[in-house]
Amino acid sequence: MAATRLLITNAHPLEPESGELGDVSWLEVADGRIAATGTGPAPAISDEVRHIDAGGATVLPGLVDAHVHILLTSFDPKEAASWTPGYATVRALREAERMLRRGFTTVRDVGGADYGMAQAIDEGLAVGPRLVFGGKALSQTGGHGDIRPLGDDTEPCCQSRPSFARVADGVDAVRSAARDEFRKGAAHLKMLISGGVASPHDEVSAVQYTDEEIHAAVTEAENHNRYVTVHAYHPRGVNRALRAGVRCVEHGNLIDDETIRLLLENDAFLVPTLVTYDQMAQFGRRAGMPEASYRKVAAVHEAALSSLERAHRAGVNLVYGSDLIGPLQAAQLSEFTLRAEVQPAADILRSATSTAARLLGMAGQIGTLAVGAHADLLVVDGDPLADISVLTRPESALRHVVKAGQVI
Ligand code: ZN
Ligand code: ZN
Repeated sequence: MAATRLLITNAHPLEPESGELGDVSWLEVADGRIAATGTGPAPAISDEVRHIDAGGATVLPGLVDAHVHILLTSFDPKEAASWTPGYATVRALREAERMLRRGFTTVRDVGGADYGMAQAIDEGLAVGPRLVFGGKALSQTGGHGDIRPLGDDTEPCCQSRPSFARVADGVDAVRSAARDEFRKGAAHLKMLISGGVASPHDEVSAVQYTDEEIHAAVTEAENHNRYVTVHAYHPRGVNRALRAGVRCVEHGNLIDDETIRLLLENDAFLVPTLVTYDQMAQFGRRAGMPEASYRKVAAVHEAALSSLERAHRAGVNLVYGSDLIGPLQAAQLSEFTLRAEVQPAADILRSATSTAARLLGMAGQIGTLAVGAHADLLVVDGDPLADISVLTRPESALRHVVKAGQVI
């Protein structure tokens, strides 16, 4: 049995909300929570206490990646379709472990992860971040989540298999699918309301779903005290969805001033995912990405950074997301360096901690060093506020990952 208490001494605390590095402090953890902190003499160390002398390193809250797909461990849908559910799940949990070891102590899965995966991590059967999952994303027929080849005339298959999305058409079917995902423990509902890069047969500016269908999903989510987040690039889709009451927008590469106005007015969240386009542009072909998808990358890649910059300047709630699939997941931390082109380090850090916590309904629980919060902590050599890229070099700079008070 591991020690239930942990004491970190000689560390500079970095509280993201204030965006300042504090004086050398100690931090005490008990029962998985931050129990006390201080700058004076540290509490006595006994046998039940695990002690980490940080040697002047930085201690900050564990990171949150709010756009992952742990299930999508291959670029090739045909290969993935040949896997058994068990094999696909084992691969997904291995990916989750790698995420934790990069410093992500919480991830929000927006298509694919399910209750069983979260349960395996919670029970300690698998090592991984806190897994906040939304089950399967909702797609219309022929939408971003309907990956049947054009020659396939069979019905969309099959709710019992692990997959990223499920097809639901019409208000009644959307309601029923939403209720089913919430029944299975979804913390949010993901809706695919525009074309996408990974789906070879739709255009990114194409609108998917009607206002009535999005409204129905929002009503179901609100009835369950949950929320809807949408995959979309273009204001044609994004702005309709925001008017219908969705709380979060994924990607948003092509957004306009009206999108920004609606995001601010609704106190909604935007999760840009720059790194996925950057990686797909660099390595997509080699990693086995279909040619039709590869050609779409260029269009959304270019616009992503300037959209982020405009949203940042306007004060939109921005949250860290990577959206990498297959072997590209190794670049999960590179979103930090890409955003640093247009955002100060403190703002990027908040997007991966305190602002993400608000999106997840976990403010005060994660993304903070406050007493009472979950003891999800990183001990990092260097100062991420001076150079955010220290977070992208876990092999040399990340000394410890602590999740719920346990040193990983
Ligand atoms: Zn998406
Ligand atoms: Zn995604």
